[in-house]
Amino acid sequence: MSITDRRPLIGVIGGMSWESTQSYYREINRRYHEVRGGHHSAPIVLHSVDFAPIEAMQRRDDWDATAAILTEAAEGLERAGAGVLLLATNTMHLVFDRLVEATTVPWIHIADATGAALTADGIGRVGLLGTRFTMEQPFYRDRLAERFGLEVIVPDADDRTTVDRIIFEELVHGVTTGDSRRRYGEIMRSLVDRGAGAIVLGCTEIGLLVASDDSAVPLYDTAILHARAAVDWLLEAER
Ligand code: GLU
Repeated sequence: MSITDRRPLIGVIGGMSWESTQSYYREINRRYHEVRGGHHSAPIVLHSVDFAPIEAMQRRDDWDATAAILTEAAEGLERAGAGVLLLATNTMHLVFDRLVEATTVPWIHIADATGAALTADGIGRVGLLGTRFTMEQPFYRDRLAERFGLEVIVPDADDRTTVDRIIFEELVHGVTTGDSRRRYGEIMRSLVDRGAGAIVLGCTEIGLLVASDDSAVPLYDTAILHARAAVDWLLEAER
């Protein structure tokens, strides 16, 4: 199949975790239905992986192994006729370039969807919450800085440990507690005190825990922004 034969069909690699893949599925369909009306729902092909081996590989820094699993998933979605691909996790964008190399279909990078929304709203300095990989390694922060001119600040080391622990011990298991919500609220407040004009929920599960009334500044939920960017692509592809 050549690129020109591609159907208006969104390909999603999900399961990282399946809790947040539900947010994608809901938002893509909600937004598409909002625009198209009637009985419309979005054409999607989903490859949902088993998160356990991927989480173990992340912990031992075996990114090559994660890339191999995700490449196979991406190739499958390409064969299924997806016209665009999304990797429904911030962290695994660490291997994004390798996935792009292995496929011919265009991708939407989660940080690009987020950066575009932030700059459209005139935000300059942002606080970033995510896994320790996303907060500490350059792949995500640098993309926001270089492509969108954003100044990205992250919590201090102790708070990064807390943010990461709550993601892996609670949120990916669908557990949300008042205590964790309060902790995230305090950590977001310390980022605002350091000049953040917005908070990037740079992990696709964080939007399951916190809402706008937990923060004095606007929250940018990467799962929702990524899902909406896919719908924008779909509407354009259908024209
Ligand atoms: N969904 C998360 C993210 O957006 C974390 C899970 C993972 O490590 O892939 O980064």
